[in-house]
Amino acid sequence: LLQLYAPLNFLGSIYSSIRTSLVDLEHMFGLLEETVEVDDPPNPSPIAARLRDAPPASVTFEDVRFGYRPDREILHGVSFSAPPGSFIAIVGPTGAGKSTISRLLFRFYDVSSGHVRVDGRDVRDYNQSDLRAAIGVVPQDTVLFNDTIGYNIAYGRLGATSDEIEHAARLAQIHDFIVSLPDGYETRVGERGLKLSGGEKQRVAIARTILKDPRLLILDEATSALDTHTEREIQAALRAVAAERTTVVIAHRLSTIVDADEILVLGDGRVQERGRHAELMSHNGLYAAMWAAQDGAQEETQDEADAAGGS
Ligand code: ATP
Repeated sequence: LLQLYAPLNFLGSIYSSIRTSLVDLEHMFGLLEETVEVDDPPNPSPIAARLRDAPPASVTFEDVRFGYRPDREILHGVSFSAPPGSFIAIVGPTGAGKSTISRLLFRFYDVSSGHVRVDGRDVRDYNQSDLRAAIGVVPQDTVLFNDTIGYNIAYGRLGATSDEIEHAARLAQIHDFIVSLPDGYETRVGERGLKLSGGEKQRVAIARTILKDPRLLILDEATSALDTHTEREIQAALRAVAAERTTVVIAHRLSTIVDADEILVLGDGRVQERGRHAELMSHNGLYAAMWAAQDGAQEETQDEADAAGGS
């Protein structure tokens, strides 16, 4: 019986690891089985993709209501507007609906009422592929292909020349690192190649996005803390890609958004506060409380580091 049981047990563990990978994939795309297909319109409106061809995009949310399921509304009437070239930050506690806003901008889902507009038109007026070509995303976690680091950047715009790839890598502050690798841009990376650190992967994603040259940029900031040096390099790279583009940042670290044209504080699917950093600080509400909490947490981490260093 044992002889029979062992292979069954083995198969069972393979089955459960396949299931886990599938679930991970769904998580990666933030899509669960109830995803509703969205349709392209019969007469789609044109939309320019690249910043070199048209000015930065504008974004407007007009009283947007949305739920992944009909019985649970997540956004209860969200409105904001990002004029061409502006920098808008969305902050708020976990589960507030921040990522949902970026998924609606991409039109992974349709709103239940209200409008999501890009360049003044409802996103339902565009072909999905045209809309997505105009939007660049730097995600929290970048997936690298098992290919060369050069290809991983070129994926932002297949057909880019090697000069364009190198230019993007320089702006993203990753060129010097790449040329220090044994095979330079030809070095293989990913699961079966060289493993890159979180900060390096993020800079590859930034270079990809610079190459894509989208008119609208969504930055989904990583929650995990990077060391100060890496953090500074990433910030410089992000400034290069955000310059002149309309940028929506889903922010986890408040220090990165003090220059935002408008900060939206989202809570329970509603915009609870909005304004610039100084206005919100003097208002002494939720945003100011988030700063106080973050400063407190940083001091604690510093105390722990000091204690560890001193022992
Ligand atoms: P975090 O800071 O943790 O990323 P968030 O503010 O981005 O949080 P969202 O990911 O927008 O929050 O989620 C808002 C709510 O919608 C949560 O309650 C979440 O459980 C729910 N939700 C998110 N994605 C789905 C989905 N695909 N299907 C069903 N519910 C979902």
